Amino acid sequence: MNVEHVPELIAKIAMADPRVKRTDPIERRAQLEMWAGILADVPLEFALQATHAHYAESQWAITAGDIATRWREVVRDRLSRHTRTFDPSAHPEIDPDDIAGYLAIVQGEHRAVVHGHELPRPVRKAIGGPAAQEAAERIAELGDYIGDKTRAALAPFRPRTAERERLVREGHGDPLSVACPYEHCRAGRGKPCRNARRHDRRTPHPSRIELAAGGAQSAEQTTTTEPIGHAPGAWPTTA
Ligand SMILES: [Zn+2]
Repeated sequence: MNVEHVPELIAKIAMADPRVKRTDPIERRAQLEMWAGILADVPLEFALQATHAHYAESQWAITAGDIATRWREVVRDRLSRHTRTFDPSAHPEIDPDDIAGYLAIVQGEHRAVVHGHELPRPVRKAIGGPAAQEAAERIAELGDYIGDKTRAALAPFRPRTAERERLVREGHGDPLSVACPYEHCRAGRGKPCRNARRHDRRTPHPSRIELAAGGAQSAEQTTTTEPIGHAPGAWPTTA
């Protein structure tokens, strides 16, 4: 609201609640300046509505802060439902290369939404309707973002991954989870084994598979219960 609207607002509020009215000229001027500063963005119409809402639920004298808080809540709500995207089909008069014109429209729409002149425009769903249903069904069918069938079909093209997956499936442990112990290779964790010519091998070195398998087994042992008769950590006694 403009500065000149503030005395009008205070006068209207004072008719219902005389406490807001300042009689001392210095106090009155300070109040006008403060209200004008706090309510600069708030439309007069909204300030009056907010005043009604305030007195409907409170016996305290309203402050400019009370009005501004209600305004911020409304703006936040409107903007949370609005996307600042430009819909070219809604503005055929705008040249696609006219960046200033496009920005002016986006800012104008933003202002219109803030002030409630236009309804917030939510983001359109990228996939909606029957297609969304079909997509959901297909994903449910796959069960994984790479389904087993896809995985099998891809195996010839990703032999190292296929080999790792086979070993893990069979409980041997992932060889790439450990560094290769073979002295001529020594591939680090996550790196494929290399042959004598320093080319990546399709399969890990056998000692690496064994090492990973040992890790997988010991991990399994710690989670299973000890057999009866063997104290944890003790060597089994021979009969
Ligand atoms: Zn190796």
